[in-house]
Amino acid sequence: MLSVTAETPTASRLRLAVHDWAGHDAGQHVDVRLTAPDGYTAQRSYSIASPPQAPHLDLVVERLEDGEVSGYLTEELRGGDLLELRGPIGGYFVWPATAAGPVQLIAGGSGVVPFLSMLGHHRATRSETQVRLLYSARSEADLIGTGELAGAGISTTVTLTRAAPPGWEGLRRRVDVTMLAEHTLAPERSPLVFVCGPTSFVETVAAGLLSLGHDQSRIKTERFGATGGP
Ligand SMILES: Cc1cc2nc3c(=O)[nH]c(=O)nc-3n(C[C@H](O)[C@H](O)[C@H](O)COP(=O)(O)OP(=O)(O)OC[C@H]3O[C@@H](n4cnc5c(N)ncnc54)[C@H](O)[C@@H]3O)c2cc1C
Repeated sequence: MLSVTAETPTASRLRLAVHDWAGHDAGQHVDVRLTAPDGYTAQRSYSIASPPQAPHLDLVVERLEDGEVSGYLTEELRGGDLLELRGPIGGYFVWPATAAGPVQLIAGGSGVVPFLSMLGHHRATRSETQVRLLYSARSEADLIGTGELAGAGISTTVTLTRAAPPGWEGLRRRVDVTMLAEHTLAPERSPLVFVCGPTSFVETVAAGLLSLGHDQSRIKTERFGATGGP
């Protein structure tokens, strides 16, 4: 572990130097395994936030109330600690810069993490692919990756669901079909759509996209649902 820094009041960015890292594709994740002195183990998946071009591996972990592993990763870990990782994992929820067609990213909460890797990859490869991001978060303070998003040079729409600062000009409600119709790429453009976030968010968005006429085969989803157990 190189460093642990606060990303938001509830999320931390873990910067890792990984021995023998063979590289990853934008959108892949790793499994983090913790082993207690008595041999008890717990394993959870975390998306890679850094682009393939970065010299280190970044994870952004959101601390969940009563969460077993996220609490440990965000509050107990320190620079210099060792972590057991497996990966990179996943060949489906990835965006290679060579993919054809425009890209629509739709994130709920920490679901934006794999998109930070995709946006960094987009930038590093000087890709000319059109990318749009629709990002739903509870409040402005909960926005993850604001530095990367500001420099990504893409069209971003943010909606805040619980609290907005005075003068906020962005959207202020949960993602619904009207918002999808107004703030995402139209189905006629056949965008490749990536949806990531809590299970209920992903299901609502995917159903909305289908009702708007998007082709199911162009919609890729990843759920950050509760895993629980070892
Ligand atoms: C492919 C993939 C990528 C992911 N990427 C990320 C990422 O980039 N960043 C990220 O933050 N997360 C990510 N996740 C989610 C992550 O894997 C974990 O699920 C998350 O961190 C919660 O783990 P935890 O051990 O803290 O919570 P768990 O202990 O698994 O608990 C999960 C939830 O259940 C609740 N809970 C636990 N015990 C109880 C109980 N007894 N009664 C009632 N409720 C309970 C907790 O409050 C918590 O909200 C990803 C998941 C997947 C599948």
